[in-house]
Amino acid sequence: MRSIKHDLEEQRSALNRSIKSLGTTRDAEQRREIVKDPYGAASMTHDDEVAAVMADRRSRQLRQVTAALEDINSGRYGICRECEEPIAKARLKVMPFATRCVACQQKLEAEGLQRAA
Ligand SMILES: [Zn+2]
Repeated sequence: MRSIKHDLEEQRSALNRSIKSLGTTRDAEQRREIVKDPYGAASMTHDDEVAAVMADRRSRQLRQVTAALEDINSGRYGICRECEEPIAKARLKVMPFATRCVACQQKLEAEGLQRAA
């Protein structure tokens, strides 16, 4: 567990630095209207739009990393937020900041896709 916490802390400071260099989080929130489709982002060439997408993505990652660190501190790390079952070790290895098990994450993403459609 020691190395996961260390990795997450490193990630958190790296994300904080890159978000600062891209502009404020609030800007990214305001610009989200323009960049609703994450898959359309690749076709955008305007620097501001690219920066907004990057800042948006990184602030989301930052929230995940921060939540994982809070879970480690409160002893809840590796427990699914939805069903309270332990998250598979293999999943945590790939996604150290995962807060949901595979089943709950897939369910959530399926619902998200339905909402977006
Ligand atoms: Zn679950």
